[in-house]
Amino acid sequence: MVIWTAFNTLPHWHRKMVLILGILTMMLAAWPSKHPEATRVAALPEAQLNPPPAPRAEPQVERPRLKTRSVRVRRGDNMGVIFQRLGLDTAELHEIDQLAAAEPLRRIKPGDELTFKLTPAGQLHSLDYPHSLEQTLRVNRTEEGFDARHLKIDLDTRDAVAHGEIRSSFWNAAVDAGMDETQIMALATLFGWDIDFAQDLQPGDHFTVIYEEKFRDDEKVAAGDILAAEFVNQGERYRAVLGPDGNYYTPEGKAMRKSFLRAPVNFRYISSNFNPRRLHPVTGKVRPHNGIDYVAPVGTPIMASGSGTVVAAGYNPFNGNYVFIRHDSTYVTKYLHLSKRTVNKGERVKQGETIGLLGGTGRVTGPHLHYEFLVAGVHKNPRTVTLPKADALSGRELARFRAVSATLLARLERPDEPRLAMNGERP
Ligand SMILES: [Zn+2]
Repeated sequence: MVIWTAFNTLPHWHRKMVLILGILTMMLAAWPSKHPEATRVAALPEAQLNPPPAPRAEPQVERPRLKTRSVRVRRGDNMGVIFQRLGLDTAELHEIDQLAAAEPLRRIKPGDELTFKLTPAGQLHSLDYPHSLEQTLRVNRTEEGFDARHLKIDLDTRDAVAHGEIRSSFWNAAVDAGMDETQIMALATLFGWDIDFAQDLQPGDHFTVIYEEKFRDDEKVAAGDILAAEFVNQGERYRAVLGPDGNYYTPEGKAMRKSFLRAPVNFRYISSNFNPRRLHPVTGKVRPHNGIDYVAPVGTPIMASGSGTVVAAGYNPFNGNYVFIRHDSTYVTKYLHLSKRTVNKGERVKQGETIGLLGGTGRVTGPHLHYEFLVAGVHKNPRTVTLPKADALSGRELARFRAVSATLLARLERPDEPRLAMNGERP
């Protein structure tokens, strides 16, 4: 009553003011109680906040509202920088860093994503870091300090089929077939003991690949292993299936890996994979020629086609820089005209190891690798020579391999049908 009397005695504009204030107060009171808290966390640097009001005596299920902050790692970031950016206590980061399981946090890289959950007071509640394709590191605040553990991310594996025919290049055909760089290289490696990808491919060659794809929540996150593949090169068919030991085998169970690679140069460095007439760069004659010439840019890495010992590495006016490798009592390979030798006489080398760089040293008209393959002292064509027998599966291993490979080989026969597999249906 007294208030009402006082109100009426106020000047008109005062009365208006009091009314507006009253309405504002009522609106604030009616506002959902949790909202202002969340807004505050977002609006103020957390360190300046007072401790939040003690939670009202509500049922225990009501947890303090956590704020989620996603952080994409930028160039130059480390966890310390990120903690500071979020206004988090770096002393706590030091505490977390003591946990062995939290080690991946030292290896964050630009583009990685971290998810922080912060308490209403802006303190770290938990931190998720998916540090590998299939594992997330989770750091949690507990009563006794921080706790770090690795959670497995479940990935779906589905099969897919790619089929391509070579028109301009193997690379283009594989890209058109939907394969990524890793898969293309894997396919070339897989058949690299049988086919010279640098020079022996022809238009019309074709291939079929059955491979795995990894999905996370229906999103494709990675390409998996090649399960089986077929490559038809100049009418000759080669097939390979992933074996139980992680190596590839022919349908008969013979290892794809052999003692010699068909080409000592990765096909990616060869400007044209089609080279029907192999002219000697000096004489201009097609044959006779003691070796094979690979034309590629100066500096292209040259690989040892097989494991062995370097028996000669030097320079003379004809060979330029050269490297000879003895593989056993029968086989010797020679690599000429290098711009640089990267191995020395007497050194052991492994198959695929770089022994030098392609160049134009010695008697040449242009840069190329001249490659020779000698069997018991006689020059042979490395792409047609019969090579030492490969390892093979036998007994129970072979039976197990046959059982698994039958389905895959059947699917290679009809590459256009298994489209269904791409929709997640397995046969
Ligand atoms: Zn030559």
